[in-house]
Amino acid sequence: MRVLVTGGAGFIGSHLCERLLNDGHHVLCVDNFFTGSRDNVAHLLGQPGFRMIEHDVCLPLYADVEWIFNLACPASPIHYQIDPIKTVQTNVMGMLNALENARRFGARILQASTSEVYGDPAVHPQVESYWGNVNPIGPRACYDEGKRVAETLMSDYHRQAKVDIRLARIFNTYGPRMAENDGRVVSNFILQALRGEPLTVYGTGEQTRSFCYVDDLVEGLVRLMSAEGIHEPVNLGNPVEFTMRELAETVAWLCGQEAQVVFRPLPQDDPAQRQPNISRAKSLLGWTPTVQLEEGLRRTIDDFRRRRNMEPLPERRSTTAHRAPVMGPVAD
Ligand code: NAD
Ligand code: UDP
Repeated sequence: MRVLVTGGAGFIGSHLCERLLNDGHHVLCVDNFFTGSRDNVAHLLGQPGFRMIEHDVCLPLYADVEWIFNLACPASPIHYQIDPIKTVQTNVMGMLNALENARRFGARILQASTSEVYGDPAVHPQVESYWGNVNPIGPRACYDEGKRVAETLMSDYHRQAKVDIRLARIFNTYGPRMAENDGRVVSNFILQALRGEPLTVYGTGEQTRSFCYVDDLVEGLVRLMSAEGIHEPVNLGNPVEFTMRELAETVAWLCGQEAQVVFRPLPQDDPAQRQPNISRAKSLLGWTPTVQLEEGLRRTIDDFRRRRNMEPLPERRSTTAHRAPVMGPVAD
């Protein structure tokens, strides 16, 4: 296939480009490098079948391709809140332009939607039939509502213009090549633990997230794109749920640190709980995540250590019995 990946120089996009090339596809990677970087795809440049262009998806682009993965959009709260108007534009104009491209060339198009369309969910675990609980005027709305409009556009282009759409609702994903400065919980905790600093837990740390390793997510995206006739949203995420305190303990232990935390204020509209119901992905795609949190974190920590010219992690016994209680709070 000839494949367009918007946001292909980002964290997930770079893994997706790599996977598609390994599967024998031709990949056109489009990115404006707002949060992504050339480093993420440096190992792909020069490979036959890979092309990269710098382009802002808010402007039209017509590429004669058969598949479009639309990933262009900053994903971490601090990044998408830097310029919230631009975030809405990227979600809406970027989606429209990608859909026009799909319509013109008869391409199948997959939108990287998000668990954020459920907002601070009142239904738990989240099923695709749940319509969500989103504050439309809060600081996260540029992302959450932007992604909801993108889903609307996808659905309307399908109904009205018969575009062949795929809607992936992606839950928290982590792994190598996460941006170090993205302020997300996994990257923050790893960096803080590697520096020997206390881990910053927002609120009480009892809020939950379910973390999916990037290779599992990419497998789900490729299966969804390859499957025939799935036009409704599909949750892709790891259903194993952790509190942020548990995550802090695990990261600190893997980095050989005592888990010391400092508590910081909970950001506005921060969802209290999040866990995907993945029955639909299981039954339609035969997909289920395979990488356990501890193993995925180990690989991610190794990547962060490599980037900081540190030796790989020493081997540690894999058990949950290690989890010492969190020691904090420590003085600021
Ligand atoms: P990322 O920030 O690493 O990647 C996004 C990429 O899009 C970056 O390379 C960025 O430079 C590019 N981009 C942003 N605005 C652009 C624009 N206007 N024109 C062209 N390129 C632009 O984030 P990620 O974690 O790789 O997320 C990829 C996609 O998956 C996003 O759409 C995100 O909303 C979605 N998603 C991610 C997660 C997650 O946990 N990482 C969860 C749910 C959904
Ligand atoms: N969080 C935290 N410490 C940090 C960064 C984030 O406790 O240093 C919390 C944050 O408040 C949220 C959870 O971790 O409850 C996940 O945050 P992230 O930004 O990674 O993802 P999202 O909120 O978009 O799911």
